[in-house]
Amino acid sequence: MPLFEYECEKCGAQFEELVALEAPAPVCPECSSSATRKLISATTIHFEAASPLDRKPDAKVQQNVQKAMKRKAVAAAACPGKAGGGCSGCGGAR
Ligand SMILES: [Zn+2]
Repeated sequence: MPLFEYECEKCGAQFEELVALEAPAPVCPECSSSATRKLISATTIHFEAASPLDRKPDAKVQQNVQKAMKRKAVAAAACPGKAGGGCSGCGGAR
C-alpha cells in the first residue's frame, strides 16, 4: 500500500497515511475533519528517483575505470623512478 501525505484544509495539519488508491481521503488526526487533500508525497518522489530506470548501465564500468586510474596514479606517485632511478613497480621513468 502506498504512503500518502495529506493536509487538512480545516486546520492545516499535515499527516501521512497508508491508504489504498481507491480509498477515500482519511480524516484529520487533529480535528477529525474529512476535508483533507492529498499532497505529493516525498516518499513517492524518493522511490521514483531510486528506480532502476534512472541507473546508468555503464556506471559499474566507469567505476572500474576510475579505480584502475587511481591505482595507476598511486603507483606513479610512489615510484622512485621519478627521482631519476629505475622502478620495478611501473617499468621505470621514461
Ligand atoms: Zn484538521
